[in-house]
Amino acid sequence: MKTIVIGGGIIGASVAYHLAVRGAAVTVLTDGRPGGVATAASFAWINAAPGNARPYFELRVKGILDWHRLQHELGERLTINWNGSLTWSDEPAAMRTAYAEHASWGYPTSMISPAEAAKREPSLASYPDQAAYSPLEGSLSPSETARDLLAAAAEQGAQISPDGVRAIIARNGRITGVQTAAGEISAEHVVLAAGAACEALAAGVGVTLPMANRTGFLAQSAPLPPILNGLVLAPQAHMRQNADGRIIVGADFAGGAAPDDEDAAAEALLASVRGLLAHNGDRRGDDVRMERHTLGLRPVPADGLPIIGAAAGAPGLYVTVMHSGITLAALVGRLAAEEILSAQPVDILAPYRPERFEGSNF
Ligand SMILES: Cc1cc2nc3c(=O)[nH]c(=O)nc-3n(C[C@H](O)[C@H](O)[C@H](O)COP(=O)(O)OP(=O)(O)OC[C@H]3O[C@@H](n4cnc5c(N)ncnc54)[C@H](O)[C@@H]3O)c2cc1C
Repeated sequence: MKTIVIGGGIIGASVAYHLAVRGAAVTVLTDGRPGGVATAASFAWINAAPGNARPYFELRVKGILDWHRLQHELGERLTINWNGSLTWSDEPAAMRTAYAEHASWGYPTSMISPAEAAKREPSLASYPDQAAYSPLEGSLSPSETARDLLAAAAEQGAQISPDGVRAIIARNGRITGVQTAAGEISAEHVVLAAGAACEALAAGVGVTLPMANRTGFLAQSAPLPPILNGLVLAPQAHMRQNADGRIIVGADFAGGAAPDDEDAAAEALLASVRGLLAHNGDRRGDDVRMERHTLGLRPVPADGLPIIGAAAGAPGLYVTVMHSGITLAALVGRLAAEEILSAQPVDILAPYRPERFEGSNF
C-alpha cells in the first residue's frame, strides 16, 4: 500500500516508521526539515502530569508506555532519560490537590521530603518543603529521536525526501497524492503530519483543522558534565539535561508572546538555572553558559486536544497534529499505522477525530 507522510518531525517520523515496519511503501516528505520544526524547539518532556481531563490523561499514560514498547523494539538507538520529574510550586496546596487526584487515578506520583528530593537531584541549591516526584516521566533529544526514527523507517524501505508539498491532490472525491516542486506523487493514503503547517494544507482539500498555535521559548546551555538526573520543574524555571550535556530550560508551558529581547530572555532563563543549582565542587551552577535559544511554535488544535484520524470529508487523508507530540509520538505512530493499514478504527482515538470541528464555532 503506497503512503505519503507529509512531515519529518517526531510525529511524521513515528508514523513513517510504524507504517514501514508493517510493510507499507512509504515516502516521507520533510520540506528540508528532517527532525521537525516544533520538534526541534521542544522541551521534550514525556509526561501525563496534572492539567488534563482524565480521558486525555489516560491517553498520555499509554503514550509513555508506548515509548517503552518502541525502545524495546529499536534497542539502544533510542535514548530516553527515564529518571522521572521533580516538581514544586508557589501554590503548594493546589499542587498537592492536583497530584493527589492523579495518584488516585493510579499515576505513580508522590509528595517527597527535602531529604528525598536531595537524593533524587543532589545538585540543587535548596529544596522545597514538599515536591512531587513522578518516576514514570522522562525526556529525550527530540530532533535526534525524530531523525533516528526516520533512519529506522528508511531501513525498512521508506524513502525520505527533502521535497515540500505545495498541495494535497483530490480527484473524484478522493485524495490521490501530493503536488511537489518536482511534480505529482500519487499514493493511496496521505498522512498529514506537518505540525503547524497542517491547517493550511488541509484547508486546500476542504478539511478544517482549527488551530490555536502558541509560541514557546527555550534556552540551551553549552554542554556540561552530568548535573541533573531527571526533569526539575520549579516555579522559576523548568529544566532538564540532554544526553549531550546541554541543559534545556524554559519558564512557560502555556506559551505567550515572543520575548521582545530573546538574548536577554535566554540569559534570564539561564540565570534561573544558576540560581537553582548548587555552587560547589565540580557541579558549579556558575558554569552554566548560554549556547543558543529557540523560539518555537507549538502546534495546538483549537480545543487543546490532539487531532488524529481519517478525514471523513477527504477519503485517503489521515491527520496527525497535536501538542504534546513528544509524549504521544510512539503511540500515535503505531495506532495511525494500524488504522491506515487495517481500516479498523481504534476506539481510544474516538475523542480525537478531525470531524469534531465540523459545524463548530472553533
Ligand atoms: C517550546 C516547546 C515546548 C514543548 N514542550 C513539549 C513537551 O515538553 N512535551 C511534549 O510532549 N510536547 C512538547 N511540545 C510540543 C511538541 O514539540 C510538538 O507537539 C511536536 O514536536 C509536534 O511534532 P510534529 O512532527 O507534529 O511537528 P513538527 O516538528 O513541526 O514537524 C513538522 C514537519 O512537517 C514538515 N512540513 C511542514 N510543511 C510541509 C510541507 N508543505 N511539505 C512537507 N513537509 C512539511 C516540516 O518541515 C517538519 O518536518 C513543545 C513544543 C514547543 C515549541
